[in-house]
Amino acid sequence: MKKKILVTGGAGFLGSHLCERLLNEGNEVICLDNYFTGQKQNIVHLLDNPFFELIRHDVTMPFFIEVDEIYNLACPASPIHYQYNPIKTIKTSVMGAINMLGLAKRIRAKILQASTSEVYGDPKEHPQTESYWGNVNPIGYRACYDEGKRCAESLFINYYRQNNVNIKIIRIFNTYGPRMHPNDGRVVSNFIMQALNNEDITVYGDGSQTRSFCYVDDLVDGMIRMMNTADDFIGPVNVGNPVEFTILELAQQVINLTGSKSKIIYEPLPSDDPLQRKPDITLAKNKLNWEPKVQLREGLMKTIQYFNSK
Ligand code: NAD
Ligand code: UDP
Repeated sequence: MKKKILVTGGAGFLGSHLCERLLNEGNEVICLDNYFTGQKQNIVHLLDNPFFELIRHDVTMPFFIEVDEIYNLACPASPIHYQYNPIKTIKTSVMGAINMLGLAKRIRAKILQASTSEVYGDPKEHPQTESYWGNVNPIGYRACYDEGKRCAESLFINYYRQNNVNIKIIRIFNTYGPRMHPNDGRVVSNFIMQALNNEDITVYGDGSQTRSFCYVDDLVDGMIRMMNTADDFIGPVNVGNPVEFTILELAQQVINLTGSKSKIIYEPLPSDDPLQRKPDITLAKNKLNWEPKVQLREGLMKTIQYFNSK
């Protein structure tokens, strides 16, 4: 059955892939974005589709529409972008959630929140399960994002408890792939751009901190599976790739795959930078019948190809 689906942040990296997938599955998609970090370029190939609509709007302002489902992705995601205007980042997470939940309540739509592994902060439990409450510095430089997203989760669960809104929460772990913003400062895009330009690869700290990298197609698959679960499963559920790498290993892999002449240099570790991160995806396996399929090497090759063609 064709559904009418609103995707906030639809012109961003993840949102553009999600819009594309939902259209390919035969749905009508309304993409809402204020283009803060997203770009029309990401969705220009969808504009010919009569079932795709593009709306310039800021989620901190109320918005009215009739849809069946809402995917709430609007929020800058890279540390450089979300720290550029931290107050706006908090407003986007919190007021965006209030506006979208209010809409979902009024029109009885199902609504999914794109939360983040950052709700675990610099985790004292490893790997992270959904039952872990996290270790977040509320006055640190990452707080505008982490606490904004934590507050959004709290809003979601309370709209569920108090108003019976049909909610879903996923906690997304580091995801990469084509259409990442080349200058957003995230590690995969930084290293690939540096390698392709034969510039120094900037490893922050000693590179022993870890992350687990999920390819975008896998992530979008998990997100849609979550939206389609039975109403009594609301999450939160971790969606990410559990294969863990050090940042130094990632740098070496990117140099190998690009055949770059770049050398690795070391720069200071930003404050509150989590030392390790790896999702426990047992819940996603059980409830969504989902696990990532794309290995880092294969995903990096596709991403390198994308950045090379830009
Ligand atoms: P992105 O920056 O590419 O996309 C975010 C989109 O939201 C952009 O198109 C931006 O213009 C839009 N936006 C920002 N503020 C807005 C506002 N006030 N009103 C309307 N639109 C606004 O980032 P992404 O990687 O695609 O992330 C999408 C979502 O997934 C975010 O909510 C992010 O927190 C979450 N997430 C992503 C990752 C990841 O690794 N990519 C990890 C965890 C969580
Ligand atoms: N990082 C790095 N060099 C860069 C960019 C990032 O060493 O040019 C490190 C960063 O300090 C962090 C990890 O890579 O430890 C992941 O950073 P990113 O900004 O991609 O996402 P995070 O998981 O920190 O939100």
